[in-house]
Amino acid sequence: MVELEKKIVSEGEVLPGNVLKVGSFLNQMIDVDFVMKMGKEIADLFSADGVTKILTVESSGIAVAFSAGASMHVPVVFAKKNKTSNINSSCYSSVVHSFTHGNDSVIIVSKDYLSSDDRVLLVDDFLANGNALRGLLDICGQAGAYAVGAACAIEKGFQKGGDSLRAEGFRVESLAIIESMDDGRIVFRR
Ligand code: 5GP
Repeated sequence: MVELEKKIVSEGEVLPGNVLKVGSFLNQMIDVDFVMKMGKEIADLFSADGVTKILTVESSGIAVAFSAGASMHVPVVFAKKNKTSNINSSCYSSVVHSFTHGNDSVIIVSKDYLSSDDRVLLVDDFLANGNALRGLLDICGQAGAYAVGAACAIEKGFQKGGDSLRAEGFRVESLAIIESMDDGRIVFRR
């Protein structure tokens, strides 16, 4: 998505540790019109897949997931990061290693909101090592739901999460793929 690439270049900030900050349109302030356009792109990519639900993880995935859900007219479920290790039997849960925080957290989804009848599209803001998507896939598996694929706004292609999922035959679409961002210079995959 050319417009997203332009926005990344003009507004993004490369932080130490291979972190890209996009607080001005996605991660703290939300450029609503622009995020809705990203949702429309995602909806177009998966229009033939019979998606019944979108699944993301709180909190930064919610804006993109919401916009995709609004375009596809399907509900958006977000996995919650559990504050305690108290998981009860009414939830699906998975352990996810956080790239940005460097810790493990348990993500949970109530069994009420995902079932074996669902065809699920996974959505997130960033794709790095793929741990968040794999946690969401694990939850789909527990629910017996079918995951049709994943859509991410920004993939850091130099971290191998997206490519390893693709190599396993799982469909992953990213609206912008960053090939490198060494010394603050952002280069996109072509
Ligand atoms: P993964 O699980 O694929 O390693 O990382 C994806 C998750 O980590 C996303 O949910 C996102 O919130 C966060 N993340 C990974 N890399 C970045 C980054 O460069 N910038 C920001 N803002 N978040 C990131």
